[in-house]
Amino acid sequence: MTRIGVFALQGDVREHLQALGELGVEAFGVRRPAELERCDGLVIPGGESTTMGKLARIFDLLEPLRMRVKGGMPVFGTCAGMIMLADRVVDGTIDQETIGGLDMTVRRNAFGRQVDSFETRLSVTGLDQRVPAVFIRAPWVEEVGPGVEVLARVDADPAYGDAAGRIVAVRQGRLMAMSFHPEIGQDTWAHRLFVDLVEETLPAASDRRPN
Ligand code: GLN
Repeated sequence: MTRIGVFALQGDVREHLQALGELGVEAFGVRRPAELERCDGLVIPGGESTTMGKLARIFDLLEPLRMRVKGGMPVFGTCAGMIMLADRVVDGTIDQETIGGLDMTVRRNAFGRQVDSFETRLSVTGLDQRVPAVFIRAPWVEEVGPGVEVLARVDADPAYGDAAGRIVAVRQGRLMAMSFHPEIGQDTWAHRLFVDLVEETLPAASDRRPN
């Protein structure tokens, strides 16, 4: 069975475990390196990225996480998890540490300058229907490098002010990140995308190591 971990030192872990469980993968929390080793893919949830960075350092997960990302493990970051995957952070704390890997600059609490939280609908590359998206003190993506595919933007409607047209979902190779919280709500479209990404990278079942 495909094994997908959820970074569980901080953040809204339970909702992700539930969404993944509904899709028939083995989903479990990751707090230590041995749990990370079992992962075919990893979700980093929403929460507080500065705290996540500190705890990952204290619990000896930060370097192993960087190594797994370099080694090509699929990772899906949402909100604070998106910040954790960013190579560059604007409005972070001075000592903020991320895992990195995604060639993008994110602005922390970007929407928070106008409204802390809001809900909207988005068009996402590859999906026929618009999807609901909940933003909670969310980052947006200020700029991306050439290897990054933009999956979604806030509608370019002046009603959104500064947020109009901003990039809020991206993918680069096996890394995927979204500013909003796809685990809130009934639909598991985002987790399905990620499970597909993970399963594409797995060797044939017959070649897999046991455990
Ligand atoms: N503002 C948070 C941060 O900087 C992210 C908020 C969230 O994940 N809902 O990490």
